[in-house]
Amino acid sequence: MGATKILRALNRRIQTGFVADETGREVQRTLKRSLYRQPGSLVIGALCGIAVSGVSASVVSDPLFCAMALILSVVAALRIGATMLLPGEGARLPRFYASIYEWGAVLYAGSFGTLAAIAIARNVGTGVEALLTTHAVGYAIAVCARNAGRPTMALALMLMVFVPLAAGCLVQGSPAYLLMAVTLPLIILAIMTVTGNLYAVLHDAAARAESSRRKAHDMEKLARTDVVTGLANRAGLNHALVEASMYIEEGQSMALFWLDLDRFKEVNDLLGHQTGDLVLAETAQRLRAIADHPAIVARFGGDEFVICCDVIDRAQAERLAGQMLEALNTPMTVAGETLDVGASIGIAMLSGKDGGDMDLLLQQADLALNHAKTSGRGCSKFFAPFMTSDLARKRDIEAELRAAIQRDELSVFYQPIVELATGRIVAFEALIRWFHPTRGELQPDEFIPVAEDTGVIVTIGNWVTKQAARACANWPEDIHVSVNLSPLQVKAPGASLGIEAALREAGLAPDRLELEVTENLFLDDTATTDAFIKDLADKGVRFAMDDFGTGYSSLGYIYRYPFSTVKLDRSFVSGASLGDKTRAIIGAVAELGKQLDIRIVAEGLEDAEHVEAVRTAGCRLGQGYHYSPPVPDYLVSVLLEQNRAQLGETPATVRRASA
Ligand code: C2E
Ligand code: CA
Ligand code: CA
Repeated sequence: MGATKILRALNRRIQTGFVADETGREVQRTLKRSLYRQPGSLVIGALCGIAVSGVSASVVSDPLFCAMALILSVVAALRIGATMLLPGEGARLPRFYASIYEWGAVLYAGSFGTLAAIAIARNVGTGVEALLTTHAVGYAIAVCARNAGRPTMALALMLMVFVPLAAGCLVQGSPAYLLMAVTLPLIILAIMTVTGNLYAVLHDAAARAESSRRKAHDMEKLARTDVVTGLANRAGLNHALVEASMYIEEGQSMALFWLDLDRFKEVNDLLGHQTGDLVLAETAQRLRAIADHPAIVARFGGDEFVICCDVIDRAQAERLAGQMLEALNTPMTVAGETLDVGASIGIAMLSGKDGGDMDLLLQQADLALNHAKTSGRGCSKFFAPFMTSDLARKRDIEAELRAAIQRDELSVFYQPIVELATGRIVAFEALIRWFHPTRGELQPDEFIPVAEDTGVIVTIGNWVTKQAARACANWPEDIHVSVNLSPLQVKAPGASLGIEAALREAGLAPDRLELEVTENLFLDDTATTDAFIKDLADKGVRFAMDDFGTGYSSLGYIYRYPFSTVKLDRSFVSGASLGDKTRAIIGAVAELGKQLDIRIVAEGLEDAEHVEAVRTAGCRLGQGYHYSPPVPDYLVSVLLEQNRAQLGETPATVRRASA
């Protein structure tokens, strides 16, 4: 029991002796591998051992010597046999094999030293003594070279040869052998110095290789990690997806969630990038809590995240998406602010039998995300094949839109804005129409977003403004025109000059033009927006806040900018009847309008009931199908004439409109 413990401790010591650090262990591993890969020298050594002991035993009759020679031959034969067990190139060497090898070497060295010592001590004859001594010393030196990567092992093996040999010399006692007993330790010293140097060189080389390998590994890891969230970045995601695609098996399903924060831009613009970063980090943490390892969670860039994991079925994917939405709909407290960012998710599924086309999976999730965003955000959508055809249609629209103006396919329609109490038309809103030769009439809701995405909106918007200004110049002077502006138009270089040029060209007084903008205009780059509004407001152009009640409905913008009109979104009015809450909101906005001298226009009035409801809630102006749908410009004069006639006014003021 005690002996095994000592042997184990000795084994451990031999294994780790010189090599306390990781680099030392790496040197040892490398050299060990090379040892086992080249068993040739071992076999040659062992064959020599068998030959030497066999020949010696045949000429010496000493029984102890012959017994030792037999032991040496058996150990040598066993060692040759053990090389047959070596696994092939590249395979992992089993632990037991290393032990057999090591203990075999120790036993072989000890047997060789002892056999030579017996030969010397018992004076078996000069020839045999010389044969055994040279082979024993030669073996000890060779084994040191072979074990340069683990000097403790080298020393142990050399001692196993030299200690019995020196003892044999001392017993024999002749001056020559006594001298040999003295010089043997010197040889050990010399060989160990060489082995030590060799080890140091190897250690340095391995340390350098290891440090460059680690550096390369760290750099690679860094290049694949997003610093803000600690998640994988786009490169990391690609790498992880390629790996995942290789291991997906038949019958296995994978879901890819593409997630986009709904109100991140607002947070970033209003509270700064540092707060934005904290929101991203918190989002990452919440997603990780739902999609634990080995799920892939990556930040795709900006406020977009991609999560990819194995799922059992579509229902499980849906449940996961629900959990993610719930987690991100829970307000975050970041930098002392409570923020409600929310998210939209596109989901695409892949099953093992489809193969692992990750690019396609990403494309599908992206399309699904687009649909989630256009369906009102805050929801998740699974990819469906129709989404691909929608995208194709969008691409077609994009291509044709540029040519539409030249081909005269666009026109501007006008919808009256009416004083609710009297029914008197006070203005017209210009609304673009596209009559496509083969597709028929295209809705602005379909092509305006494409125009905004592609930047064509700037050209189209300028064209609408020119048309509207020209049309309005022909109307009675108390009628003004409203034109919708996209944020991109406002931000385009020389935007205010374009509007002024349109007014000048048409000869229209600036105060007869009202520009309708939505809240998202104010979400970024306020300097350009401020300058645009100030320049034009100074000239007398009026501004309307459009679709009020659909976005943040920030009263801050109404106070900050010189708005003359606020247009209450039609979602307030639509539906069977106004609820108490809606009425209260409309009432509050109307009251605000009175106090600040801002006109409130209720949109989407479709019947007399709607008109009555918003009127009693306090609105003065309205617009909707109840009065008239948008009409082509040549019908504006007809509408005006009818309207004035109903009011009992002379058509004199109207006549200009039909001129
Ligand atoms: P918007 O500015 O809110 O325009 C009002 C929309 O409501 C118009 O839709 C109008 O036809 C519709 N509408 C009017 N009365 C009623 C009603 O009683 N019930 C219902 N359900 N709808 C009514 P349209 O013409 O399809 O335009 C949609 C949106 O496209 C506009 O919403 C506006 O945001 C955008 N748009 C239209 N023309 C232009 C343009 O020249 N430039 C820009 N940038 N955007 C435009
Ligand atoms: Ca509008
Ligand atoms: Ca509107």
